[in-house]
Amino acid sequence: MEKVDYNCIFCAIAAKRAPADIIYESEDALAFLDINPVTQGHTLVIPKKHSRNVFDIDDESGKAVMHASRVVGRALRATFNADGLTILQSNERAGGQAVFHYHAHLAPRFFSDGLMSRDGNDRRMDWRARKNSSRDELKQIAEKIRAHIKDE
Ligand SMILES: [Zn+2]
Repeated sequence: MEKVDYNCIFCAIAAKRAPADIIYESEDALAFLDINPVTQGHTLVIPKKHSRNVFDIDDESGKAVMHASRVVGRALRATFNADGLTILQSNERAGGQAVFHYHAHLAPRFFSDGLMSRDGNDRRMDWRARKNSSRDELKQIAEKIRAHIKDE
């Protein structure tokens, strides 16, 4: 049994020692709703095995995260009839990382979401949370997304 560091909030979630609205789980990866969504359905995908970020993640975990991102991305698109999807993954403090367990943000995107800069270029997309969702609301959203998960 690998040693699990419960001081890491994402390790605790992966071990089901901390609450999260889980929408997808595989042997090596987990996806759950961000509690401060930038758009409805904003999801985090993590490897279950702790790694700090892209500088130390192993290929097996990376592959599991990509698979989960494909499965969850399609489910998000289907659930919200999204026009697109943005994936953001930050490394170290200078790169914008705040929780030091590898995670990819998946945010369903809409032409109407107002997050795109006027020239249609997404480099200045602002990732600050747009709305606060209640626990009940997140639970309902997770249920809707789970109904669209097709693991293939
Ligand atoms: Zn961790």
